[in-house]
Amino acid sequence: MSDEKLPTRSENYSEWYNQLVLRAELADYAPVRGCMVVRPYGWALWENLQQALDRRFKATGHMNAAFPLLIPMSFFEKEKEHVEGFSPELAVVTHGGGEKLEEPLVVRPTSETIIGYMYSKWVKSYRDLPILINQWGSVVRWEMRTRLFLRTTEFYWQEGHTAHATEAEAQEETLRILDIYANMAYEDGAIPVIKGRKSDTEKFAGAMRSYTIEGMMGDTRALQAGTSHNFGQNFANAFDIRYLDVNNQLQACWTTSWGLSTRFIGAIIMTHGDDQGLMLPPRVAPIQVVIVPIFRNDAEKSLVLPVVERLKNELSAFRLKVDDRTELTPGFKFNDWEMRGVPLRIEIGPKDVEKGSVMAARRDMPGKAGKTILSQDGLAQQVEKLLAEIQSAMLRNATAFRDAHIFDPKDYQELQQVVQNGWAYSWWCGSKDCEAKVKEDTKATTRCIPLDQPGGTGKCIVCGEPAAQKVYFARSY
Ligand SMILES: [Zn+2]
Repeated sequence: MSDEKLPTRSENYSEWYNQLVLRAELADYAPVRGCMVVRPYGWALWENLQQALDRRFKATGHMNAAFPLLIPMSFFEKEKEHVEGFSPELAVVTHGGGEKLEEPLVVRPTSETIIGYMYSKWVKSYRDLPILINQWGSVVRWEMRTRLFLRTTEFYWQEGHTAHATEAEAQEETLRILDIYANMAYEDGAIPVIKGRKSDTEKFAGAMRSYTIEGMMGDTRALQAGTSHNFGQNFANAFDIRYLDVNNQLQACWTTSWGLSTRFIGAIIMTHGDDQGLMLPPRVAPIQVVIVPIFRNDAEKSLVLPVVERLKNELSAFRLKVDDRTELTPGFKFNDWEMRGVPLRIEIGPKDVEKGSVMAARRDMPGKAGKTILSQDGLAQQVEKLLAEIQSAMLRNATAFRDAHIFDPKDYQELQQVVQNGWAYSWWCGSKDCEAKVKEDTKATTRCIPLDQPGGTGKCIVCGEPAAQKVYFARSY
C-alpha cells in the first residue's frame, strides 16, 4: 500500500501497468529474472477465471489430467517445425541426483510432445476416440523481455489436447474451444475479443491452422488472449498416434491443442483499468463488494458495527469483504479499494443506520454519478442487480472503445497512420511480403483474419492485388 499516486495512463501506460500490478498486490517479481510470484489477490482472480473455463470445458465433454513437467529432449526433435519454434526458449535440465543425465530433459514449454507420446500408447482403435483432455499447470519459456502476466519465463495456463478420428471433428473441436474462449472473455471478462485465424506467419509452430481471440487494450495495442490450434496429422504422424478404423485400416489421428494463460489477467487489467487503478468485472473479481463502516467515536461505532455484521450475513452469497482496519481513514480505504478494482463499495455510517439505508458506490462510474442510496431491506437483490449492471456496462464501454479505434483506411499511407493509435481492418492479399512490409514500416502485425468476413473481394491495402479476405493489423503485446 502506498499514498503515492499511480502514473496516469496517458503519461506512461507501461509504467501505469507495472505499478498497478505491484500496488494492487496481484503479482511481484521473483528472484529469478523473468519469473513472477502471483500473490493471493492475483491468484484468486486466476482461480475465478479457471472456474469460468473449467466448467465450460467439462460441459463439452473434456476431463482434466496431469502430465509430467520434464520431457526427454529427443521428443522435441520429432516434429521439425515445433522444435524450431521452441528451441531458443527451452530450459534444459542436464543434471539430476548429482550426476550428468544420459539424455537432457526439457522443462515443458508446452506439452504436445509428451501428450502425443502417451496418446500413441493409449489409442488403438476408433473406439478409443476422441480423447478430450485438459491440463492445468505451468510451463517455462526462456523469455528475454518480460512483463508481469504478459510475458514471463514461467506462466500458468491450461492446455487442452485432443485426438480425433476425422479432420472434420478436429476442426469442429478447434472452433468449439475458440467459442468457449470468446464466450468466457465476453461473459466473464467483459472483454469484446475478436475471433479469427492466424496468418501462416503468426501461427503456432507445427500447427496446420491456429485460431485466436484478440482483445484491444486501453492503449489500443492488441493482445492475443487465447489460442486454439488444429494440428492436422502433423503431430499424429510424428508421434505415431494411429488407430484402426471400422474397416480395420490403420489411420493417423487428427489432433488439436488450445491454451489460455495468466496473460488473460493482463488483458483484464489493460482493458478495464483507469487512472484510479484496476476495474475488475464482477463475475471474476476476487472481492465483489467491500463494506466500509464509517464512525468517529465509540458511540457511533456501537451503532454501526452491528448493522454491518447483519448486512454481511445477508450478503453472504457474494464475495464480500468488510474493511475493519482501524488505523486508516474511510477516504484512504475508498481509494485503496478503487485502486484494487472492487466493483461495488458499500458505506455505512450513523446516518445510514438511522435511515435504514446504505450508500453504494460503483467502481465503473467514478464520483457522484456512481453513487446510489439503497435501502437495507432486500439489499442482496439490489446488490445482485447492480453487479449485473456493472458487468454489462463494462462490456459496453470496452466495446465502444474498441469500435472507436478500429479503422478502415483508404490507402497504405492512411494505414500507417491509423495503426499508431488503433487497428486497421483492411483487405489483404494473403502474401507474406505484404505482411512483412506492414511490420517493417509500422511494427503492426496481422492479428487475425476474423471469422466474420464482409464477403466479396477487395484490393490488398499494401500491394493493390485482388484480396479475398479482410484482416486486422495492429501493434501488439
Ligand atoms: Zn498484398
